[in-house]
Amino acid sequence: MSKRLQQAREDMLRTVRARTEAAEGDAPTIGPLAHEAPGDDRVSAEMISHEEQYFARHESEMLQAIDIALGKLESGGAGICESCGCAIPDARLLATPTVRHCIGCQERIEKEQHSGRGPSM
Ligand SMILES: [Zn+2]
Repeated sequence: MSKRLQQAREDMLRTVRARTEAAEGDAPTIGPLAHEAPGDDRVSAEMISHEEQYFARHESEMLQAIDIALGKLESGGAGICESCGCAIPDARLLATPTVRHCIGCQERIEKEQHSGRGPSM
């Protein structure tokens, strides 16, 4: 499990790096450490198209989620549903390393979001 997550993280880093280099090095906030400085993409915002921004943010979030998953793994908390505390099947974790809920809770959460009766924001 740990190796698979680290592999996923490295793949993601490689993707981010390739994209950063493709942007002619003018996107310093999309570096491997970008996820440690959330919200700091305003400087280069003008240099990057909306699509690039979207992907950059998405990748940063993915990296962050993988880091969290790795951290949990190290502390023995990986694969535990944050909602009900049950074990998340390995297959689900491998398919989506960043998953934080078991299938049952995920479906319930999505249903709540669709019906607009989710946890109030
Ligand atoms: Zn659950």
